[in-house]
Amino acid sequence: MIPFLDLAAAHAEIGREIEEAIHRVLESGSYILGRELEAFEADFADYCGAKFCIGVGNGLDALHLSLLALGIGPGDEVIVPSNTFIATWLAVSQCGAVPVPVEPNAATHNIDPSLIEEAVTTRTRCIIPVHLYGQPADIDPILAIADHHGLPVLEDAAQSHGARYRGRRVGSLGDAAAWSFYPGKNLGALGDGGAVTTNNSAIAERLRVLRNYGSRTKYVNEVRGTNSRLDSLQAAILRVKLRNLDRWNEHRKVLANLYLRELGHLKAALPAVPEWADPVWHLFVVGLDERERVQKKLHEAGITSLIHYPIPPHMQQAYTDLGIPQGTLPIAEDLANRVLSLPLGPHMNLADGQYVCQTLATILDDR
Ligand SMILES: *Cc1c(COP(=O)(O)O)cnc(C)c1O
Repeated sequence: MIPFLDLAAAHAEIGREIEEAIHRVLESGSYILGRELEAFEADFADYCGAKFCIGVGNGLDALHLSLLALGIGPGDEVIVPSNTFIATWLAVSQCGAVPVPVEPNAATHNIDPSLIEEAVTTRTRCIIPVHLYGQPADIDPILAIADHHGLPVLEDAAQSHGARYRGRRVGSLGDAAAWSFYPGKNLGALGDGGAVTTNNSAIAERLRVLRNYGSRTKYVNEVRGTNSRLDSLQAAILRVKLRNLDRWNEHRKVLANLYLRELGHLKAALPAVPEWADPVWHLFVVGLDERERVQKKLHEAGITSLIHYPIPPHMQQAYTDLGIPQGTLPIAEDLANRVLSLPLGPHMNLADGQYVCQTLATILDDR
């Protein structure tokens, strides 16, 4: 069986270095907010071309705490993509604010900047573009709209470690960027983890306080913060993995290019890559007319595929109270019915990639 993503393979490759890093932390006696975390924060800020990095417990907290640091609260509206993982919306709801969805471009699946302006109201306080599937969102026009209305931009970069927009790494393009180090992401920990990168020292300072009980000095609490810190063990592991990230992203690109080349003639909508985008292929998502049949046939041929995502946030039971009826966001709804993610990862070999292509060609009966 070809797995969707072989996480254990990374251990076979760099397990020794990871074990050394773990050992170092075990022997240090410092497990929360220590040197390892500071070292990773410096490394990752540097990697993203950002001034500051603040490690937090997970990607959802990275989004939520960033919104709090930007002053978002009850009664506010935050513009989000209609087509995203639900965490983007949940972070807004956790602040007591309302997510206001904007449809994606049907080709790139990323938020359509030309539809943002009409979603802005007097209550709008922030825009969250998501660099979905590792493809950068079209940030420049989004920043121009935000600038015009005096709104901050929070990048949801959870799927895009290393991606570039017009040559610049994502994560330093807006006012702040939220990252997840969930194991399956391009840069993944061995458990939960997250971070925020920013060039704004005031936002960075607020996040350091918010993630640590609202406290700068032990037992002195300035605000009602939370407990959400990236632990030293995960930070040490992530430092090792960060050194391998560009090489792993390169391999993802080789596989993606194979898929783009070999599947071009099939009845499947392939990912569109704008000329300004340098994606990192967190996912390779195709659009299909008969997705369920294709997925079943792939499974029978030993190929694991997944759906990202089968139900858009506005149609989830969790969001029925927003009262957004079915049919209101047709592009997101159509994508949810058509998308299928093919296996792809830093340790998948090219022969398996070829086999996926040949199998898909046979299934789609287009030879
Ligand atoms: C994974 C993900 C998150 C949440 O990250 P967690 O670490 O799982 O909390 C947020 N946004 C997007 C787009 C994601 O893919």
